[in-house]
Parts: sequence; structure tokens; C-alpha cells
Amino acid sequence: MSSTTEPTGDPRPRVVTGPGGGSDLAVAGWRCTGCGHPIAQQVSRCPLCRSVVAGSVFPAEGEIWASTCLRVRVPGHTPPFAVAYLVLDDGPRVLVHTPGEQPLPPASRAKVTGMSETGDLLAVAAAAVEETA
Ligand SMILES: [Zn+2]
Repeated sequence: MSSTTEPTGDPRPRVVTGPGGGSDLAVAGWRCTGCGHPIAQQVSRCPLCRSVVAGSVFPAEGEIWASTCLRVRVPGHTPPFAVAYLVLDDGPRVLVHTPGEQPLPPASRAKVTGMSETGDLLAVAAAAVEETA
């Protein structure tokens, strides 16, 4: 008999190859077929209008909504470390880890650069991406 407390799968969004191919990245998620609402975690129905949802991919870039420095011990992370909620362009809001302990400022642009070994989305300031390009 299986436990009801067992996780049914990793609910975190995944990074996939974007429409440009190669190093172009996108974030996989779902979009409501009724109202178009973007969703980062798998659900059977849209939380807004209850229509069915379909798999979708979203741009890897967006705007920081909120950010902070965490000083708690989390498996796989050495405190302190910075995290942020990133609102992907025309997409859902996703939790990302950002370099160092200084949080990226809200309303600044950031870009998802990949996933950590433990499956967390990683992002950097969008300006930092352009400087290294
Ligand atoms: Zn909907």
C-alpha cells in the first residue's frame, strides 16, 4: 500500500531547449486552453476558470517580482543564499536561485540560465548575461 504522503513527482518547473534550439532556453509549464492563464506547476484544471490546461513553454527571461536572502539550512544549499520570484515574460511566476547572497532588486530583469544539480531553477541579472555574451 502506498503512502499518501509520498511525493507524486517533482513539482518544480523544468528548463528545456527553447524554440531557437542550441543554447536557447525556455521554461516548461502549462497554459489554460480557456483563458490563457500561465501555470508553472502541473494541475488538472485552470485555477481561474477550471478549463483544461495544456503543456507549454515560456521565455526564460522575465522581471523579478520579489527577492530575499535566505539564512536557513536547506538540503543542497549553504546559507546565506539569494532566491527570487521571477515573472517570466507572458508566463508564470517561478522560484529561482540567484548568485551570491545579495538579492536581485524587484522590477529588474533576470534570465534563467539552467537548473542546479538538485533541480532548482538558476537565474542571473539579465544585464550580467549581456556583459558576458
Ligand atoms: Zn483558465
